[in-house]
Amino acid sequence: MKADAQESQSLVLIVDDEPFIRLILRHFLEREGYQIAEAQNGIEAIEVFKQLHPNIVLLDAMMPDMDGFECCTQLQNFECSKYTPVLMVTGLEDQVSVDRAFEVGAMDYVTKPIHWAVLRQRVKRLIEQSQLQQKLEAVNVELQRLATIDGLTQVANRRRFEEYFNQEWQRMKRDKCPLSLILCDVDFFKLYNDTYGHRVGDRCLQEIAKALKDIIKRPGDLVARYGGEEFAVILPNTDTEGATHVAEKICHAVRTLAIPHKNSQVSPYVTLSAGFTTEIPQPDSNIEEMISVADRALYQAKAAGRDRFVQNIQLPKSKNSC
Ligand code: GH3
Ligand code: MG
Ligand code: MG
Repeated sequence: MKADAQESQSLVLIVDDEPFIRLILRHFLEREGYQIAEAQNGIEAIEVFKQLHPNIVLLDAMMPDMDGFECCTQLQNFECSKYTPVLMVTGLEDQVSVDRAFEVGAMDYVTKPIHWAVLRQRVKRLIEQSQLQQKLEAVNVELQRLATIDGLTQVANRRRFEEYFNQEWQRMKRDKCPLSLILCDVDFFKLYNDTYGHRVGDRCLQEIAKALKDIIKRPGDLVARYGGEEFAVILPNTDTEGATHVAEKICHAVRTLAIPHKNSQVSPYVTLSAGFTTEIPQPDSNIEEMISVADRALYQAKAAGRDRFVQNIQLPKSKNSC
């Protein structure tokens, strides 16, 4: 039975200094449906490997110039070799050689004279395994992403917020640098839902999230959905001046979206209020307290008439209207 369709696309790199061995391996594996590339020593193998990215390498141990062990060691250094299994095909059967083959990164080992039925299965299984591993890792990456993203708005979720805020708080404490936190809350959003319906409400949140994401430019900044119609923005290495600038832009950007809200008591359009605080975390300061300070500032922005931002409740003079 031939290798299945997916495997038949697979490229096998045969590395052996003996032309006859390369020839019989090629014939056998071509009959199995594989594509073949060849190299006659370790140096050539590395060149071919870099160019063609084979799905598996069949590697002889004893070769002139660069032997199979050295070649295998060097192959492990290439990023593209991460999923490429190396199968040693060699006359060396002593324990030292076998141990060494696995130590340098070979996935499996077959001895010469070649037992063809065994070789066939090993090649097939090693390729299947590496393809499965690649798929698993891709699924894992996607799962990780999904676990930290809010499904509706595609910004970071609350869980990611907690994790990242904690991490940056510790980092800013260590580096003695300012950390800013902006909490935003859409104004009269219950009324918005009551007026236009929940689905339109959802779309409105999506647009606002996108606007926030477009404002936040630095790689270290993070926009998260903090709750229903609440968003949080974490700005590491950002002082009061920087945070004021971002908070101002946020209020402005949401206003500029010009999403009609006929029952809002402050504007014909959807607006939001924001509260922020900036601090250099101290050894005795408290992360929860920083969130409460920003939350109190947000409450002040609401109380002062909404559609504005307020900085830190302890500094009422720095209150700004945007
Ligand atoms: P305020 O200006 O004081 O913030 O008033 P508000 O109406 O925005 O505040 P309130 O907390 O009373 O209402 C929040 C509303 O947000 C109520 C809730 O139905 C709505 N909401 C929360 N999450 C979602 C969501 O995922 N989709 C939609 N469409 N609405 C949401
Ligand atoms: Mg709210
Ligand atoms: Mg609200």
